[in-house]
Amino acid sequence: MLITNGRVLTFGEQPRLIENGAVLIQDERIVAVDFSHVLEEKYPTEERLDAQGMLVMPGLVVSHTHFYGTFARGMYIPGPPMKDFPEILQRLWWPLDRALDEEGVRYSAYVPMLDAIRYGATTLIDHHASNRFIDGSLDVIADVVQETGLRAVLCYEVSDRDGLEVALAGIRENVRFIKKARDMANPRIAATFGLHAALTLSDDTLDRCVAEAEAISHRGFHIHAAEGPADREHSLATYGLPTIERLAQRGILGPQTIVAHAIDIDAWEMATLREAGVWVSHQPRSNMNNGVGVADIPTMLRGHMKVVLGNDGFSNDMFEEMRVAYLLHKSARNDPRVLPADQLLDIVMNNNASLAQQFFGQPFGTLEPGAVADVILVDYDPPTPLSVENFPWHIMFGFDGRKVDTTIVAGRILMRHGAIPHLDAERIYARSREVAQQVWERFWAQSA
Ligand SMILES: [Zn+2]
Repeated sequence: MLITNGRVLTFGEQPRLIENGAVLIQDERIVAVDFSHVLEEKYPTEERLDAQGMLVMPGLVVSHTHFYGTFARGMYIPGPPMKDFPEILQRLWWPLDRALDEEGVRYSAYVPMLDAIRYGATTLIDHHASNRFIDGSLDVIADVVQETGLRAVLCYEVSDRDGLEVALAGIRENVRFIKKARDMANPRIAATFGLHAALTLSDDTLDRCVAEAEAISHRGFHIHAAEGPADREHSLATYGLPTIERLAQRGILGPQTIVAHAIDIDAWEMATLREAGVWVSHQPRSNMNNGVGVADIPTMLRGHMKVVLGNDGFSNDMFEEMRVAYLLHKSARNDPRVLPADQLLDIVMNNNASLAQQFFGQPFGTLEPGAVADVILVDYDPPTPLSVENFPWHIMFGFDGRKVDTTIVAGRILMRHGAIPHLDAERIYARSREVAQQVWERFWAQSA
């Protein structure tokens, strides 16, 4: 397939803006990038996709999300407003994940994946929990990934919060699915070892997870840590150590581990994350919504830490997540210099891409020969000159997910002019509403 007549923004190490550019895709890879007339002449018989002057760029990677959070939208939670993060976990997220059955897991995955296609998020790193339906839950999600055509990295959030049996089932699900993902060798589905959060995992369970991961030669975990003051207080009171130090001692940290949030940490904990080469995933919309504080991302970036941007189950519109990050840190520091648009784009396009590459072993986040053919077309007509120097500010102030017109993953067109022909969105939403009602009824039964 030859994408022609685009305003091609390559990203990568040396970003280029090619006016009237073209991208040649063969099989699942990008093969050539050049001016339209050059590639049209060279590949006259290649099937054409006319970009009609739209912006052509790599698809976006989401470093931390939760498909299972879908049914929280619009849900009534009995009682007064939740006062802090532990209460949000106990009154919203834990009863919600316990209310999910197989159908609940399936439809809570369809909806955010449809959004991801619409908004140009092509690779999603999910963190799943459904503590009453654990065995095979990752297969259900993998089937939806397969059907939608997206890429995803899946894991199960092991936790002691519902007792030892549930924790052991979570461990089994991770081990089983990691092995299965290896056997499948599907270029669009990968796995890691999920852990819910420092504050719901005992030392014994963490040790067991490390041993089980080692036994199958798997490296790296995906865990929430230091998501606000409660995590730190709990860790100090229970283990006499701050959260990150404890995780380091238990062998959870390393260059393949994703730590989501890392908000309430001290300087030594930040140094520990840096030395271990951990991916720190930042989710500003979620952090603001939960009132858990602001992660010190500008300082982490000053130390060249591996900061990546996720969405924690908010919409898969990563342009919106970027904009919130852009505004939040300036406001929190009373300093308009922090986290400029080019630095933020570097996180989202380069760091997130490197994280995806770790899982899939191919270059992401760039339109260069050899990179994965994950490409989006954005219908953005710039009202001021657009150049390779100023595009980050165009993206920050002019883009949103709804401007994405076409989404291509692994060389397959998933959406064209806003239409997703292989998925019946109306039917999926209708069924999602029915399933959500059943999930809500089980949720409310727990609160009664
Ligand atoms: Zn999360």
